[in-house]
Amino acid sequence: MRLSHFETLRPICPVCRLNGQDGPLALTTVEAEAAGDVQSGILTCQSCGSEYPILDGMPVIVPEVRRFVQENLFYLLARNDLTPAVESLLGDAAGPGSGLESIRQHVSSYAWDHWGDQDPAPFTPAPGGGQPGAVSRNLAEAFDRLGDNLPEGPVLDIGCAAGRTVTDAAVRLGRDVIGIDLSVPLARIGRRAVVDGRIDYGLRRVGLVYDRRSYRLGHQAGARGDVWLCDALALPFAAGSFALAIGMNVVDCMRDPRAGLIEISRVLADDGRAVLSVPFDWAGQVTPVEAWLGGHSQRSGHAGSPEAILDLLLSEGPLAAGHLRRTGAVGEVPWHVRLHDRSCMYYSAYLVVARKTVG
Ligand SMILES: [Zn+2]
Repeated sequence: MRLSHFETLRPICPVCRLNGQDGPLALTTVEAEAAGDVQSGILTCQSCGSEYPILDGMPVIVPEVRRFVQENLFYLLARNDLTPAVESLLGDAAGPGSGLESIRQHVSSYAWDHWGDQDPAPFTPAPGGGQPGAVSRNLAEAFDRLGDNLPEGPVLDIGCAAGRTVTDAAVRLGRDVIGIDLSVPLARIGRRAVVDGRIDYGLRRVGLVYDRRSYRLGHQAGARGDVWLCDALALPFAAGSFALAIGMNVVDCMRDPRAGLIEISRVLADDGRAVLSVPFDWAGQVTPVEAWLGGHSQRSGHAGSPEAILDLLLSEGPLAAGHLRRTGAVGEVPWHVRLHDRSCMYYSAYLVVARKTVG
């Protein structure tokens, strides 16, 4: 956690905020710090006393720290410095379905999409012709539709995964960008990419076989970018903190997408923008059916259309998600999730730009 971001953004306690209280966080323990970057320490709420750890440079600012730690203990304690041969042996021994395999597969898919276009190795397209870098291309298309007069202020990248969009936004807009995620392994690899400009991951070839890819990245966010572990439904930031919120392929991974959009509206400044790319790939274990945007109730007036529901949330009316209002044209953009050398999933994601309009 960069001290400059902490001092500029002045994060607040999500426990206090959900209780309607002010809870400024103070950096009460610093155990490892270098060049203004706190690697290990503790943030403490000055109102309720809640404590939030900082580890591997990432503050964990979630409403239920105990539950988060209990559910993510394996990922929090997992090493990320295994050498390729030892990791391969451990991966074989742990086998399919293990926590280690889940990390490797997840990181392989996202790191490939986020940074595979900068891999110096000879390019091999995914089956079906899929090319890495889709999330970057889609964000660039969204930026072209942002409109004029973006207010002053930093950028929040929700569900930043392996960090590409954090870096892209920092480079293109020249602003501070905080990426947040709840996946510890992805945030860890994302922070390294954003802060150090380096990627080091196993690209899945087949089964339990992964080829280590390790290279310097062509561009990096420098001091502007960082990655924190935060919950999109309980953002630890005061109202009006951000000029722009980015949410690439994340709304359909929230347990309550409408509440997530209302949170985005809350933390945006007046006239701030949100860019959202949504493949509407609902999963019942992540989002309960009643919270899906469309994808159910096809007997109703909207016939189960997710696009129609999202448009209603981003329009004036009883379903409006805060003050977010859709602007301009929307589009369909391609997004790929590469599983291994012989498998790639193709999505068409709904790309939309919204503006926070108050009054
Ligand atoms: Zn508090």
